[in-house]
This record gives sequence, C-alpha cells and structure tokens, in this order.
Amino acid sequence: MSAFSQLRLDGVSRRFGGQAALTELDLTIGAGEFIALLGPSGCGKSTALNCLAGLLPLTAGSIWQDERRIDTLPPERRGFGMVFQSYALFPHLTVRANIAFGLRMRRLPKEETRRRTDEAVRLVRLEDHVDKLPGQLSGGQQQRVAIARAVVFEPSLVLMDEPLSNLDAKLRLEMRTEIRRLHQSLGLTTVYVTHDQEEALSLADRLVVLREGRVQQIGSPRELHTRPANWHVADFMGYRNLWRGRVERRDGARATVESSGHRLLGEVVGDVQAEAEAVLAVRPEDIRVDGPGEAHNALSATVEVVEYQGRELAAEARTDTGLLLHLRTERRIAPGDQVRLGVDPQRLLVYPADAAAAQTNRVPQASGATR
Ligand code: ATP
Repeated sequence: MSAFSQLRLDGVSRRFGGQAALTELDLTIGAGEFIALLGPSGCGKSTALNCLAGLLPLTAGSIWQDERRIDTLPPERRGFGMVFQSYALFPHLTVRANIAFGLRMRRLPKEETRRRTDEAVRLVRLEDHVDKLPGQLSGGQQQRVAIARAVVFEPSLVLMDEPLSNLDAKLRLEMRTEIRRLHQSLGLTTVYVTHDQEEALSLADRLVVLREGRVQQIGSPRELHTRPANWHVADFMGYRNLWRGRVERRDGARATVESSGHRLLGEVVGDVQAEAEAVLAVRPEDIRVDGPGEAHNALSATVEVVEYQGRELAAEARTDTGLLLHLRTERRIAPGDQVRLGVDPQRLLVYPADAAAAQTNRVPQASGATR
C-alpha cells in the first residue's frame, strides 16, 4: 500500500519561541515499518508527529518521501492518515458516514466509496454498528471508527498520537492487538506516539526514545529492553534500580563499582572510566532472591515493603548500608525478613553519570563516593 520505499527525516527541528521542542531528529522509516516514538511527557513526541503530519511547520531540517521533499506540502497533500487521542468524530454523522467522509471529500465514485467503506468497517469489526451515531458507541468502538477513517483511503503513512490513552486497561490491551493486526494485514507504515514503554515494546518494530527533544536511542524492542544507551533510557525502560557509585576498576566490558559501601560488578555501557562517577541500573525482576551462593554481587538486605501482584510480589529491601533495592519475586517474603540477594553482572549495567544523576533522588549518593 505504501507509496514510498523510504521516508526520511533529516535534522527535523521545531522551536516554540526560545524553547526547543524537537532538536535535529534524524530518522529513516522503511515502508511497512511500525515505529514508536516514546518518552516522558514533554519530550517532543507530539511535536515530531505533528511535524510529520504537516500540522506544524519545521524550524529547521527537511522531510523526504524517497526523492520528493514533503515538509513544504500542506497536510492534505501528504496523504497521511491520522488517529488522535480524542477520536474527533463527527457527532451528527453515522459510523458509516464518518468512515466514508474522507473518500467523499476525494470525490471517489459512489461504488468505490461504498466498497472501501464496507471493507474498513469489516476490518475494525463494526458491522453491527454502521448506522449508529458516535454518541451511541463505547470509547473503544469510537476509536475503531477513528482508525477505520484513517486507513480507509489507503494512506502511505498512518500517524497515531496516544490513540489508546482514553480507554480502560482491558480495552487498551484489546485495541493494541487490533492495531498491530491492522498494521500487518493492510501492510501499513505506522508512526505511533506513546509514553507507555510496554505498549511501545509490544507494538513497534523499532522504538525512538526522546528526551528533552533529542533522540536518546533508536533500536528494536529487544535492544531497548536489554541494553538502554544511557541511564535515562534505562530509567524509562523499567530499570527501577538506579544507584550512584564510583568506578574502582574497569576490565574490558566489565567494571567494579563501589556503591553505598557495596562492591558490585557490572557490564559497561558507554564511556565509563576508573575513578569516575557511575550510575548502576538493574531491573527489579533481575534481582534474585535467596538464590544459590553467588560469586558476584551478593547483598544481604531487610525486606521493608511487599506488594501483592498476582503470581509475583513486588518488594523493597534495604541493605544495612542503606542501599534500597526494588525487586520482584515469586518467593513469599514478608516485611522484616532478612534476604540474600544477587544480581547477575550481565544484568547490572554501568553507565557514566551525568549532571542530572546528582539531582534525581532515585540515584542516591553512594557513601564514601561523594564529593
Ligand atoms: P505529552 O506526552 O505530554 O503529550 P510530548 O512528548 O508529546 O508530551 P510535546 O507536546 O511535543 O511533548 O511538547 C514538547 C515541548 O514543546 C514541551 O515542553 C511543550 O511544552 C512545548 N510545546 C508544545 N507545543 C507548544 C506550543 N504550541 N507552544 C509552546 N510550546 C509548546
């Protein structure tokens, strides 16, 4: 369906007055790809999407569809489908008329309009609701209408801005599957904005993580999950344990770091030198509780808080030097228990500290490593 083989963003930037909302975004999107733009609130995701859509002019940079420059074209001439968080349906038009609207505007022959509309209705499974008004539909059904309306004219690119954020948790999961199914069955190229890392990991072929308007990392879900490029991305990707420390020694890909009086061995990511400040990152599920004697990274701690989460418990434990650990375990532990914890060095990532590392309270100052 895609009318291009590559869409290229070249140094795309957008300022609002003195403030840079998006800075030099370089990204090449292949036909058929599902790209997620991911990052915390205010990082520039919607700005990037709106620049692509043509709703916001660029301050610098260019956008290319193969050899054709498109950032100078108005939105309607780019031919992209858009789905927003607010469904933006016409309240006085039926489901069918809402979906057919774009085709009518394009003055397609009646027969063709009918055929394509029926097909879109079938794709989003709204056959039983075609004559209803949007007000008579549930939130999930309304979002399906919005999606059908965006794909009915077979756009070369579909842009979605947090399309599921108004839905409840169960519906969000269902619609997530629907969106992926539609993307695949229609051979769409999709750019999808979300602040939900789980949603992005499950949907996208590639993720683009933004922070303060700048790309932090572009990679596959697996790359982002296992090897975040810096501690900010790690923080965003669920590495809840972020500990500040000082590098004692570096041996190739490994480093020994002193943090809160503990000596920990981890895997180096980025420019980490001996004597430098570092941030250690590990996921709660990668901390082992009462495992068989570990050669490395064994810690004794007291359980402080336990939260029941179905099969697993989420817990917080603290070592006697004050290091706080967030962990997940299937073991039945309770507040006050003494536990032996272990972290596989491969799962403990060592990042260079930056100025921001000192400011976050989730990265406590390491004892003896403070200046
Ligand atoms: P959210 O997840 O909260 O929607 P986002 O990552 O999509 O956030 P953007 O909406 O792209 O972030 O905003 C990026 C930055 O640009 C923010 O600091 C925001 O305040 C600023 N910004 C966005 N739109 C405007 C505007 N029209 N005028 C001034 N500043 C703006």
